[in-house]
Amino acid sequence: MKALAKRAFKRSEKQPQRPENILAKPKIIPRDKHPISRKDISEHALKVLYRLHNSGYQAFLVGGCVRDLILGLHPKDFDIATNATPEEVRKLFRNCRLVGRRFRLAHVVFGKEIIEVATFRGHHSQVDDDDTNALAVQSDKGMLLRDNVYGTLEEDAQRRDFTINALYYNIADFSIIDFADGMRDIEAGIIRMIGDSITRYREDPVRMLRAVRFATKLNMRLDDSVAEPIRELAPLLQNIPPPRLFDEFLKLFCAGKGQANFDMLMDYHLFQQLFPMLKSFLKTPDDTPYRMLREAFGDTDERLRNQLYITPAYLFAVVLWWPFQARFEQIMLEGGLPPSDALNVAAADVIERQLQTVAIPRRFGVVVREIWQLQHRLEHAKGKRVQSVLAHPRFRAAYDFLLLRALTAHPSEQRELERRAHFWTQLQEEPKPGNILPATTNSAKKRGRRGGRRRRVKKLSQE
Ligand code: ATP
Ligand code: MG
Repeated sequence: MKALAKRAFKRSEKQPQRPENILAKPKIIPRDKHPISRKDISEHALKVLYRLHNSGYQAFLVGGCVRDLILGLHPKDFDIATNATPEEVRKLFRNCRLVGRRFRLAHVVFGKEIIEVATFRGHHSQVDDDDTNALAVQSDKGMLLRDNVYGTLEEDAQRRDFTINALYYNIADFSIIDFADGMRDIEAGIIRMIGDSITRYREDPVRMLRAVRFATKLNMRLDDSVAEPIRELAPLLQNIPPPRLFDEFLKLFCAGKGQANFDMLMDYHLFQQLFPMLKSFLKTPDDTPYRMLREAFGDTDERLRNQLYITPAYLFAVVLWWPFQARFEQIMLEGGLPPSDALNVAAADVIERQLQTVAIPRRFGVVVREIWQLQHRLEHAKGKRVQSVLAHPRFRAAYDFLLLRALTAHPSEQRELERRAHFWTQLQEEPKPGNILPATTNSAKKRGRRGGRRRRVKKLSQE
């Protein structure tokens, strides 16, 4: 009782002010003044919106889907905001499960499509350090760790990151509610933070990565107040749990804008935070590792444009190649281990260290090691061994990696790498009877680059 009273008191005491760019009165853009049509909205999302609405709740499409529909893009997914609590949402849909600890959400599942339904989020003003049951929890660095406070529609808008992400499509009358002049910013192509950028980055440092991602994805520019604090605050990314950074890694580098994101993340000193072991290798854009990474991200974008299979494992193999080489040489210098063991130890060490920043799920870690192990074999295999290399399930990925190395190598190594790459290219193009098992040749030819069969991009998602 006492605790409750204390919390209620704290709430009124710390009632937050409206951020300066939240409009005193939101703009309502009626149906005939905006381009969003119901035919562009997923039928499942419409179903959820209508059922919530018909059950007496408020229901809005919100976030990226509204922004993308206004821009004429295909939204990746449709998110819904409502005043129904997660439990109330669950009662309305048989195909619903509640997820999330940091934010409790309802997922309404329609086969492959999941419609995420979030209850309006309120302010996290009742943070209470000595109350472990507090609904919102903040770290000593101002970062939000848990955040289950429900609120009003306006509060929900204030909690969103950028103005372009705080637009609500109202199923009740098909209007758009604009709390922060997001419509104006979409038209002007500017990414502006809701509230003070520094505070919002401290609250959730991932917003720095999101700013970059939206700038490249939407071809927009960062407002000065959004851009300026990033370089200084970039080290805050060290406080983010590695699995969350893995999710961001996929969105940054496996969604078609990898090279542009790499350039911008380097510029803002964010990439170095994701991969601290690379700091000394990426001093100037002319450095071999720098060129290799840039090329790899560009290749991946190209493959996605051509709807070819990609795997994050390949990118991790590229990104961590130089620290891996350095560790390998160090172990060899220390002596005592044959090269094959030194290679395994170096790979394990480097992957292990990386896991502390960006998680690499085990299934991808295994592929990273295989790609590295195959480099030695691709460089040295002779005679019968050639066949076993060709038959290896990671041959294509490792061969691609060799091509990339040859393309971006230091001149002192380049000729030899090119010679070996040429050898494997020829072997695949002009199979000599007796040199390669015919079955292997066929399957190798049919496969897309990077191993495995060609797969449609959609299937990629986080295999
Ligand atoms: P996309 O799905 O195209 O990557 P999005 O804007 O939909 O972009 P999501 O991560 O799906 O991004 O998030 C949906 C919405 O939730 C965002 O538009 C934003 O309003 C809000 N949001 C997401 N992450 C944050 C965050 N870290 N801080 C504040 N608001 C956020
Ligand atoms: Mg989204």
